[in-house]
Amino acid sequence: MTFERIGVVGLGIMGAGIVEVFAKAGLQVVGVAESEPAVEQGKKNLATSLSRAVSREKITQEQADEVSARVTWGTDFELFAECDLVVEAAPEIMSLKQQIFSELDRVVKPEGVLASNTSSLSISAIAEVTERPEQVVGMHFFNPAPVQKFVEVIAADKSHADIVEAVAELAKSLGKSPAVVADKPGFIVNKLLLTYLNHAVRLLDEGVASREVIDSAMRELAHFPMGPLELLDLIGLDTSVEVLHTIEADTRDPLDAPAASLLSLIASGNKGRKTGSGFYDYAEKHEAPTSDDQELKIQVHATLMKAYLHTARVMNESGYASQADIDMGMKLGCGLPEGPFETMDHFVA
Ligand code: NAD
Repeated sequence: MTFERIGVVGLGIMGAGIVEVFAKAGLQVVGVAESEPAVEQGKKNLATSLSRAVSREKITQEQADEVSARVTWGTDFELFAECDLVVEAAPEIMSLKQQIFSELDRVVKPEGVLASNTSSLSISAIAEVTERPEQVVGMHFFNPAPVQKFVEVIAADKSHADIVEAVAELAKSLGKSPAVVADKPGFIVNKLLLTYLNHAVRLLDEGVASREVIDSAMRELAHFPMGPLELLDLIGLDTSVEVLHTIEADTRDPLDAPAASLLSLIASGNKGRKTGSGFYDYAEKHEAPTSDDQELKIQVHATLMKAYLHTARVMNESGYASQADIDMGMKLGCGLPEGPFETMDHFVA
């Protein structure tokens, strides 16, 4: 199976980044969005990213021009007719994605592969609307797509194993490190990360420790790059709650329901960094939180780490992904110093 001509649907933050990844790898790319202004925005996103790469001397102006020349833009899905693979990066709404896949199924040549960049929706449910569910997979890039090395390749119920493998090989040829993941809520990174972050908020809500203790415990004792509450502010509390709802709908575990203060902060308009405040206020420069309460930090670290490692074990046993791929996902997808199965080898609570 060869992938030479790639289509991308949706040209927002992710779609434009995905166009760039494929065009930089020398492939011909077709970028389509629903309206002329959305296409113009996609072109602008690509141009800004390329000129930044040129000014940082990552690529030459000549290379940037070559990348741009490989991309064709438009609003018509018929442009995808000869594509070997189309990656959809439209908004995270199931009915919209199903509508797009049904249209792609109609216009893309019969042997073409269809992929979704969804962060949380079921690939099997998206594939269901097509006549080629065995040729539908997830190809989940991380943000920003041109920079982040990790890609989750999601095998849905009916995805053909050869197609899953070919898409993983394609990701490698783009310079990425792919992991093959089952079609389960949150895939590897969102499931493990959000379950842990939500647990940290529960400790705050239950009055076990302050936000500074919780964040500094995980920065200093687990050597995570950020504390859980700071990280929630960065991801966005509303986005985080959406992912938690998806996970909770699957597990039906009350502990996966979004913790109370996530909901109350959102209700008061504090959705994290993007609104200027969340668990912390970002009106001024945010400094890494600190606390002198060493004993409580040790307790918080042990509590959160034990639960996080337990979730990783359960995910592996229930078929989410291999231990090695879960470790790789948490290192490359979240910047953690080691994966949970590596931590298990030496962690003593
Ligand atoms: P976005 O809102 O920035 O972009 C969505 C794009 O889809 C826009 O260009 C919009 O014009 C276009 N669009 C809307 N309706 C369309 C239609 N009917 N046909 C074609 N195009 C249409 O969203 P985003 O952040 O780029 O996210 C896109 C997808 O990627 C979502 O599924 C999201 O969950 C996933 N994702 C996002 C991130 C992230 O950090 N933002 C990371 C990984 C995956």
